[in-house]
Amino acid sequence: MVTTTTDVGQSAPHSLLRGTPVVPGLAYGPVLVVTQEVSPEAVASYGDGGHATVDDALAAYDLAAVAVAEGYAAKAARATGAAAEVLTASAGLTRDKGLRQAVGTRLEGGEALLAAVHGAVEQFVGVFAAMGGLMAERATDLRDIERRLVARLVGEPEPGVAPPEVPSVVVASDLAPADTASLEPGRVLALVTQRGGATSHTAIIARQLGIPCVVGVAAALGLAAGSHVLVDGAAGTVDPAVAEDEARRLVEEDRVRRAALEAWAGPGATADGARVTLLANVADGESARVATDVPVEGVGLFRTELCFLDRREEPTAEEQADIYAEVLGPFAAAGHHVVVRTLDAGSDKPIAFATLEDEENPALGVRGLRLAEHNPQLLERQLDGIADAARRTGADAWVMAPMVATVAEAAAFAEQVRRRDLKPGVMVEVPSAALLASRFLEVVDFLSIGTNDLTQYVMAADRLATDLAYLTDPWQPAVLHMVAITAEAGRQARKPVGVCGEAAADPLLAMALVGMGVTSLSMAPAAVRAVGAQLAAVTRATCEEAAEAALAAADPRAGREAVRALLA
Ligand code: PEP
Ligand code: MG
Repeated sequence: MVTTTTDVGQSAPHSLLRGTPVVPGLAYGPVLVVTQEVSPEAVASYGDGGHATVDDALAAYDLAAVAVAEGYAAKAARATGAAAEVLTASAGLTRDKGLRQAVGTRLEGGEALLAAVHGAVEQFVGVFAAMGGLMAERATDLRDIERRLVARLVGEPEPGVAPPEVPSVVVASDLAPADTASLEPGRVLALVTQRGGATSHTAIIARQLGIPCVVGVAAALGLAAGSHVLVDGAAGTVDPAVAEDEARRLVEEDRVRRAALEAWAGPGATADGARVTLLANVADGESARVATDVPVEGVGLFRTELCFLDRREEPTAEEQADIYAEVLGPFAAAGHHVVVRTLDAGSDKPIAFATLEDEENPALGVRGLRLAEHNPQLLERQLDGIADAARRTGADAWVMAPMVATVAEAAAFAEQVRRRDLKPGVMVEVPSAALLASRFLEVVDFLSIGTNDLTQYVMAADRLATDLAYLTDPWQPAVLHMVAITAEAGRQARKPVGVCGEAAADPLLAMALVGMGVTSLSMAPAAVRAVGAQLAAVTRATCEEAAEAALAAADPRAGREAVRALLA
C-alpha cells in the first residue's frame, strides 16, 4: 500500500540537497513521502494462498493479471503522450505469456504463488537489466506490476499515489509510470526522487506535465514528512532549511517569470536579433499537431521508430508514407521544414522487425544506420515512404540518419536521400562524428547533435543508468567541447548545425549552445517558450560568454552556476 510517513526521521537533512535537475521551476510546500509497499500483514495472512493445485493457483494469477492489465489500460486511456505509452506498455507486460509461464514453472517446482510471482518478476528484471538501456528501465515497471499483482492476490487495493490532500512536494524512492501518469499538476507542487536519471519515467512525465522535478537526490527519503522544502527544478536542489518568507518570495518571482514565458511568441532570436531556429521534437501525427500550437519554425527531430514500437511486421512503404504524412502535413501548410530521422532501432528502442537479437552490448551494437548494413532494403523502403509523404504533402523534408560513425556511411546515406530529392543530414551522436564534423559536412547538408547519445558515448556511461546520472549530464565539459567542435565546423562550412537532444530544452544550456554557434535547437514542445524567452533576454555576446564559461567549467555544477551568474 502507499503509505505516507509521518515521523520526523532522525537523519532529516538540514542542508541543501542536490540531484539532477529535470524540469525547471520553483516550488515550496510540505513534503509527502511516498512509499509503495503492499501491507505486510495482508501478505502474511495470505500465506501460500491455499490453492489446491497448480491450475488453481494459475487461475488466481490470471484473474489478478487481467485486473492489473485492465487498470493500466484504463489509466492509459485517460492519459496522453509519453504517459499513455508507458502505461500501455505496462498493460502488455502484465499480460505477457512468458511471465505467466515463468510463474507456472515455479508453481510446478513447488513454490507458493506469491513466491512464484516474485521469482518470475526477478527473473525478468535480470533479463532486462542484462539488455541495458531502455529495457533496463523496464525493471521499475516490472516491480510496479508485481506490487499490483500481489495487492490483487491478497485482496488489497492496488498501490498508487493518492492525490495529496494539500498541494505537496511528492518525495519517493522512484515512481512507477502508473504513479507519475496519474499525477495532478494542481496537487503536486514538485517531484523529488532518490533514484532515476534525466531519462527515467518520472523525468519524462514530469516534463510533459510541467511539474518542477529533481531526480537522483541521494538523501531525498531523509526529508521529514510534512516539513516544508523549496525545490528548484532548474538548479536541481531541495532546500529544507529555507525561511518561509524567502521561499514564498522566490516562488512568486518564479511564477511571474514563468507567466512572462507564456507570452513569448517567437521566432527564436537573442535580444540583439541573432536568429536561432527553435524546432519541435515529435513522435507521431498527434504530437506534431500539438507542436503546431507552439511558436516553432518546424520539426527538428521526428523519431520515426516511436511509430513502430508495437509492430511485429515492417509496415509497407505506402503505409509508412501515410504515417509520415500526418507529421509532414501540418508543417507543410505553415511552410516549415521537418527533419525526419530514419529508424533509430536497437539498443534502448528495440523494434521487433528491425533489431538484431542477442547482442552482447546493444548500445554499442547494430543500431540506427548500422541496421542498413544488414538489411539495406529496410532503409530503402523507409526513404521511399518519406519521399512519398513529402510529395503528397508538399513538405520541405530533411532526412537524417542516427548513430553514424564514419564519413563513408554518411556519404552513402546522403546519396540515397538525394536520389529521392530530399535534403540529407546525419546526427552527431558518436564522438567520431563530432571530431570529424568538417569532413561530414563535405558530404551532407546539415548536422544535428544528439546530446543524449553523444553524452553517453563521450562519458562511457549508459544514459539510463540511475547511478551514473552525474556523468550522463550534457553540461559535462567534455561533451560541450564535442558540441563546440561540431558547431564551429558548421560555421566554417556555412551549413546548419542543430541540437536535438535534451540539452536543447535547458534554457541556460541553450544560451551556451547558441554561443558556440549552434543554429537551431529542437526540443519537446513544452520546453520551447522557456528557451525562447531566455534567449530573447540575452545578447549574442552573453551567449558567447556562456559558451566560454560552460566549456571552461570543471564540472556540470560549476558550468550551470557560471552561466547563471551571467544573468545576475
Ligand atoms: C539523442 O541521442 O540526443 C537523440 C536526440 O536521439 P534519441 O534520444 O532518440 O536517442
Ligand atoms: Mg540518440
